[in-house]
Amino acid sequence: MAERLARLGIVLVQDLLFHLPLRYQDRTRIYPIGSLQPGQEVLIEGEVEHAEIVMRRRRMLLCSLSDGSGRITLRFFHFSNAQYLSMSKGKRLRCFGEIRRGPQSLEIVHPEYKIQSQQTGNIVEDTLTPTYPTTEGLQQRSFRRLIALALKHIESLEDLIPPHIQQHYKLTGLHEALQTLHHPPPDTPVSYLLSGEHPAQKRLIFEEMMAHHLSLRKLRQQTKQLPSIAIGNSDKLYQQLLAQLPFTLTNAQQRVIAELRHDMQQSHPMSRLVQGDVGSGKTLVAAAAALYAIESEFQVALMAPTEILAEQHYQNFKRWLEPLGLQVSWISGKQSSKQRRSEIENLQLGMTHIAIGTHALFQADVQFKQLGLVIVDEQHRFGVDQRLALREKGRQGERYPHQLIMTATPIPRTLAMTACADLDYSVIDELPPGRQKITTVALPNERRDEIIQRIQSKCNEGNQVYWVCTLIEESEALQCRNAEETWELLKQKLPDLEIGLVHGRMKADQKEAVMNAFKAGETQVLVATTVIEVGVDVPNATLMIIENAERLGLAQLHQLRGRVGRGSAASSCVLLYQPPLSNNSHRRIDALRKSNDGFEIARIDLEIRGPGEVFGTRQTGELRFRIADLGRDQALLPQVQQAAEQLLQEAPENADKLIQRWIYRAEEYANI
Ligand code: ADP
Ligand code: MG
Repeated sequence: MAERLARLGIVLVQDLLFHLPLRYQDRTRIYPIGSLQPGQEVLIEGEVEHAEIVMRRRRMLLCSLSDGSGRITLRFFHFSNAQYLSMSKGKRLRCFGEIRRGPQSLEIVHPEYKIQSQQTGNIVEDTLTPTYPTTEGLQQRSFRRLIALALKHIESLEDLIPPHIQQHYKLTGLHEALQTLHHPPPDTPVSYLLSGEHPAQKRLIFEEMMAHHLSLRKLRQQTKQLPSIAIGNSDKLYQQLLAQLPFTLTNAQQRVIAELRHDMQQSHPMSRLVQGDVGSGKTLVAAAAALYAIESEFQVALMAPTEILAEQHYQNFKRWLEPLGLQVSWISGKQSSKQRRSEIENLQLGMTHIAIGTHALFQADVQFKQLGLVIVDEQHRFGVDQRLALREKGRQGERYPHQLIMTATPIPRTLAMTACADLDYSVIDELPPGRQKITTVALPNERRDEIIQRIQSKCNEGNQVYWVCTLIEESEALQCRNAEETWELLKQKLPDLEIGLVHGRMKADQKEAVMNAFKAGETQVLVATTVIEVGVDVPNATLMIIENAERLGLAQLHQLRGRVGRGSAASSCVLLYQPPLSNNSHRRIDALRKSNDGFEIARIDLEIRGPGEVFGTRQTGELRFRIADLGRDQALLPQVQQAAEQLLQEAPENADKLIQRWIYRAEEYANI
């Protein structure tokens, strides 16, 4: 049992008390079968109409249950003959389980059930039943028993938030809160508990968010004490880069580059997040930082979340750095092992100055001779854990490399202080001059022909057009086929235009040829999959059509749309959709029609999707909150920060104890 508990991070009695219910089962009332919806977890009761053992792919027991209001199927894969025999027609069964949509009717797979006798009558439970996060071999029943035991020792649990801070923020006492959450008394309003609004929950949410905030602050202080290499004293390479650019840097770019340089001149590692809207020119800022490192004879690693993004960076960096006599290397999961080996060897020997790639960059066989700077693009997909792992990976002896993280997702200040409080933060709050406001319209698919005519007239005026084919399925093959079909259709309907096609399944040189033809104006229309999401820059393109816009995320749509509006002429974007629009699709499309401002769009995105999705924390498990939910509880953040500040001043020893109590793997953080 101890081993199993340890898998959940439960070692002390205290850990048990803070092992909070994931949710509560409401066994306080019986639902009419006719009212059930898939996904509900409910108590039902009815009479057996029919039970039989059938052989489908597996042997199973099916039991049909009715209560007059409706009928439901109970499905069992594991059962005894006695169980089958007990379900004779007319028997009353009370069941609890999750309602699912079955092949014929709603059903419950393996419900908990009891055969009701006359005497049982209509007794239901009068408190909510907690359900705990668990692991194999540990049943809910065991948890309920263990936690009941632990609650007997609750008096020895220290309340780490001083009384006057509790009063100030109207927080429930710790003991009372835990008692309530593990054993909600009969009069607890069910709906409050289920929605996370109960004061007992608020107390623990508050405490947990404080712990997170404090741990990230601590991490940041620790980073500031680690040894690193001061770089960036000389800027010859950087000046050479500037001299070869066809434009001058924006003030915002210059300011952020100066901030990065200042960070890297310190003898502890930089750990900075740079946020800038789509098209604000983050790549150049990264290149500047890279050149400072290279000039001090250190190597740079640039990591992007996808192959396509990495490839775009590779092209840009080659274009900028090779004229300065520098070697740019490309490390990809897709390249041949021979090529990969030679790239890796050059890195190890210090022959290449910068390596660009995806996660493949940080596989065990990739070694640098002198890594000085790690750049991560679109970081919000990487959590605190990943940041730390990356830092470890780049460590050379006692020294840690500098870290620069870039994102186009504007993170609201309060959230940034929680999700990224371990980082310093810069914003590129200015777009290069000449960017045009893009007019955005949404049109249903049936008006496709009108749009095709519009393409013709746009091109007659000498403009160029993107047509972006998107499918929600992650199948690249399907996406490409869809793009090919659209390409055929447009060629047929627009016979006097030159139309190009680019998609992810084409060879790199093929792609490049198509892109170059479009850049040179030899083709007027470019049909593309979302490969053009990043990096493509053709100022003469002034119309973009995006298919299936209702199925794309806001950030992606904004990013795609940013491919137009780069020249002097007015640009527009048409979002094609298949009616009817869902509520959220409608909100997304509306947000794009109304705003060109990445910050505003991200705010709405956050509202629609919640921070877990936006920061990718659902997948990575970053910010493993046990009870808090950044979306739901955002409003508490400013208070949490204030309270954390107060605690650090008044009872700094409690800050560490709070971190220990709440943060899973807190010891690991402490060891780094
Ligand atoms: P993002 O911030 O979205 O990563 P990029 O770095 O890809 O933006 O830059 C978008 C485009 O703007 C690129 O084609 C880049 O060369 C160009 N660009 C960057 N900085 C400037 C500038 N100061 N003036 C004009 N164009 C710029
Ligand atoms: Mg970028």
